[in-house]
Amino acid sequence: MTDGLEDAAHLAGVPDEFQRLWTPHRMAYIQAGPEPLREECPFCAAPAKSDADGLIVARGTAAYVLLNLFPYNSGHLLVCPYRHIATYDEATAEEVAEIGALTQTAMRVLRQVARCDGFNIGMNQGRVAGAGVDGHLHQHVVPRWATDANFFPIIAKTKALPQLLGEVRESVASAWPTG
Ligand SMILES: [Zn+2]
Repeated sequence: MTDGLEDAAHLAGVPDEFQRLWTPHRMAYIQAGPEPLREECPFCAAPAKSDADGLIVARGTAAYVLLNLFPYNSGHLLVCPYRHIATYDEATAEEVAEIGALTQTAMRVLRQVARCDGFNIGMNQGRVAGAGVDGHLHQHVVPRWATDANFFPIIAKTKALPQLLGEVRESVASAWPTG
């Protein structure tokens, strides 16, 4: 970490072609690029870290929820099985059920803490379908607001994010129901 620039390659997330403009933090960019070099699967590595370091907001029995390091929107969550499986049809009945239940809880929590108006929810299966991390299944839960579209993605391949990831993780995790 030097002067606002952080090597993001060790954190979990699904990269895309966008740069991020971290608006509250002295206009600093995270220079992750579209394909950060990784030595291991980020979704296998994250659960071994602390919640804060792994950007994890909730841990279940077969699946867990974390913030996407490369969010489309503030509050962009990912629901992953712990097991390193690539596609949805490889998931067990228990994993399917818990991914579904965690997705529902994620919607309720985001509606409460982020006051969003809608969601995009889905899984990209395979690199040809747009999966940035195609080896480990993950469901996107992206909150949407009526006012969230702006000109940044069009003119600069840049998305403006109004909250830093640590603050978002803290607010989502603290609102997550226990038990
Ligand atoms: Zn994995």
